[in-house]
Amino acid sequence: MKIYKYIVTFHLIFLRFFTCINTTYVQVSQPIEIIYPKCFHAREKTGIMVHKEYLNPVHGYAVTPFKSPNEDRNYFHPRDVNEKIKIIVLHFTAIDFRNTVKKFTSKRNKTTRIVSSHYVIAKPTEASTNNQLLQVVPENCVSYHAGISSWGNYLSINPISIGIEIVNRGYNVINDSWNPFYQDQIRIAGLMVARMVKQYKVLPQHVVGHSDIAPNRKIDPGVLFPWGQLYKNYGIGAWLDNDEMNETVIIAKYRPSTPCPRTPDRKLFINYLGIYGYNIRYETQAIKAFKAHFTANQKPKLYNQKITRLEMYWIWALVAKYSNLSKSEL
Ligand SMILES: [Zn+2]
Repeated sequence: MKIYKYIVTFHLIFLRFFTCINTTYVQVSQPIEIIYPKCFHAREKTGIMVHKEYLNPVHGYAVTPFKSPNEDRNYFHPRDVNEKIKIIVLHFTAIDFRNTVKKFTSKRNKTTRIVSSHYVIAKPTEASTNNQLLQVVPENCVSYHAGISSWGNYLSINPISIGIEIVNRGYNVINDSWNPFYQDQIRIAGLMVARMVKQYKVLPQHVVGHSDIAPNRKIDPGVLFPWGQLYKNYGIGAWLDNDEMNETVIIAKYRPSTPCPRTPDRKLFINYLGIYGYNIRYETQAIKAFKAHFTANQKPKLYNQKITRLEMYWIWALVAKYSNLSKSEL
C-alpha cells in the first residue's frame, strides 16, 4: 500500500514538473531577428517576437501576440462562431520573407493597408527546417489575405478562409519568367492543407489560389504552383485523375447533366467557369486564372486566354466531378 502511495506521489510530482517545463518552454519568445538570422540584420529591432509552436503536423514558429499599445500589429480579429472555415487560399508573396513578415505586422497608421495572413512559408535559403513555417495569425482568427474576392456563392472570403503565403518572387516581367517553388515549401503546404481539409471538412474545389478568387486583381500563386502534385501526393484540391482524361469514364463516374462540348466555345466555357466558382464578370482574367490552375499549370507558354478543346474538356469534367459536392453543401 505504502509503495503504491509513493508511486502515485512520485507520478504526480513528475507530471507537475513536466507540465511546468512544458509551459515554460511554450512561452519562451525570442526576437525574430535571432530566429531568422539569414533574413534580418543582426542589429535590426523589429519588435516582433516569435516562439516555437507545433502547427499540426509541422513544427514551426508563431508570432507572439504583441503587448499593449501594439496589440493590433498583427492584423486579425476573432472568427465569429457562425463563420466556419470553408476555403483555403494559397498565395505567393512576390517579396522576401523579411518584408512579408514586416508588412503583416507593421504598425498601423492612416496610410497602412491592412494586410496579413495565417501562415508564411519561407524558402529553405531563408530558414532551417524547424522554422520554415511561421504562423502570423492563429486559425481561429480572421486574417486579411484575400481582399475583394469571391468564390461561388461566397462573396466575402476572409471571414471563412485560411490564407497561406509562400515566399516566392512570382512573375518576372523583365525576362517573362516565373520563379519555381522549392519542394520543401510544397511539402509544408501539402501537409498543412491536408490537415486543414480534414479538420474543417473543406471541399476539394474550395482549395484555391488567390487568382481563382480575385482573377481581376491577382495572379498568385501562379502557373508554376504544382496543383497536380499536391492532389497526387497529398490528396488535396480539385484535379482530374489519369483515368478521368477520358469522356466515357467521366460519364460513368459522375453522370454529368450536359454532354462534353465538341468544339471550343467561349460563351459555354465562361458559363461553366461560373458554375465551377469563378467570378465571370472579368471573362479574360477568369479564363487565365483557370488555365494557370489547370490546363496551363507547369506550362507557362500556354498561359493565355485561348480556349481549346482541352480547356472545354477540363471544365466540363471538373464541373461533373465537383459541382454536385457544392450543391450538397448548400
Ligand atoms: Zn495573394
